[in-house]
Amino acid sequence: MQTNFDEYGPERILEVYDPKTKMHGVLVVHNTARGPGKGGIRLVSDITTEEVMGLAQAMTWKNALADIPFGGAKAGIKADPKTVDKIALMRAFARKIRQLVPSVYIAGPDMNTTEKEMAAFADEIGDLKASTGKPSSIGGLPHELGSTGFGVAHSTRVALEHAKMPISGASVALEGFGNVGTFTMKHLEELGAKIVAVSDSKGTAFLASGFQYEKAMETKAKKGTITAYEGAKVLPAAELFTQQVDVLIPGARPNVITAQNVSQIKAKVIIEAANIPMTHEIEQQLAKKGILVVPDFVANAGGVISSYCEHIGTTPSQMFSIVKDKVVANTSLVLSSAKELRTRDAALHIAKQRVRDAMDVRGW
Ligand code: NAD
Repeated sequence: MQTNFDEYGPERILEVYDPKTKMHGVLVVHNTARGPGKGGIRLVSDITTEEVMGLAQAMTWKNALADIPFGGAKAGIKADPKTVDKIALMRAFARKIRQLVPSVYIAGPDMNTTEKEMAAFADEIGDLKASTGKPSSIGGLPHELGSTGFGVAHSTRVALEHAKMPISGASVALEGFGNVGTFTMKHLEELGAKIVAVSDSKGTAFLASGFQYEKAMETKAKKGTITAYEGAKVLPAAELFTQQVDVLIPGARPNVITAQNVSQIKAKVIIEAANIPMTHEIEQQLAKKGILVVPDFVANAGGVISSYCEHIGTTPSQMFSIVKDKVVANTSLVLSSAKELRTRDAALHIAKQRVRDAMDVRGW
């Protein structure tokens, strides 16, 4: 196995197998200087230890940048989600790592794991603090509250202020109309922005006069796609990215801004709501063109901040207030400290410094 150990971690790599259920899992705790390692459990057939290591490290930076007292970790269970008993595997995984939970590791949902699996994990450990993303009946703050989209909207507000562009009337193109996309639209509308293009798997809907959130939700519920919005022009999904808008928000899939379309981007500000919508190289090309990019782990931190709120037992309204304060403060800090619009470098530097400070005071 090729390992990437450095001054930050990983602290623990644990591979576990349960012969009875055939559960084969891996837990990587990357760094716990700021608090217990926090990261989701994904259940996919082709997960590798190396992949989990990379994801665990990314969680250390994400949680540190979000400024929540969690370290970074990630877990994977190697199984085909369509054929296995997910709850049985989750309970078997919990039994194998129980000594570490929740002091060293706290679970959360990820690919193919939901609030049901998080409830089973916490129940098996015998401690509701073992996981976040639990059902609201046992103290969870559900995904459906839309903390990520709420944070994305506030991060957009800060980025526009930084670019000296008024949010009132700012035109926005939004990729994806799922959990992140719908709540981003809702809160951007409240802040005065005008959403003129929205895409989903069926294509891009364009409406120069702007979409109305309530009507967009009604269209999605009744017709199953935003492209059925009354009066909207329907374009191919890929044309979302090249619209003449002030703000572009990739909010669905990875690697959507590429060498093929980067030269056609016309937005002045890009907010990465989805994870890894472009490579670091593409971000640097955009920066050179004077386009301000707010990196994913800065803009979409609402979800991890909400999981911290669940962990400490806040109400939904307290959670929204904490998400707003932290996303606004962190976006401002990153944008004001970035040199030549190299925002990801600035964000990583801040996150690493926070982890380093915690390691120093602990004498590590
Ligand atoms: P979701 O499944 O709720 O919604 C995905 C949306 O993408 C759907 O509207 C779907 O129609 C659309 N889509 C699919 N294919 C498309 C295509 N070819 N073109 C345009 N749209 C397409 O997912 P989500 O929870 O909204 O997550 C979206 C992204 O945000 C993912 O990258 C996810 O990792 C990231 N993210 C989500 C959260 C969260 O709390 N939900 C937090 C951080 C990051």
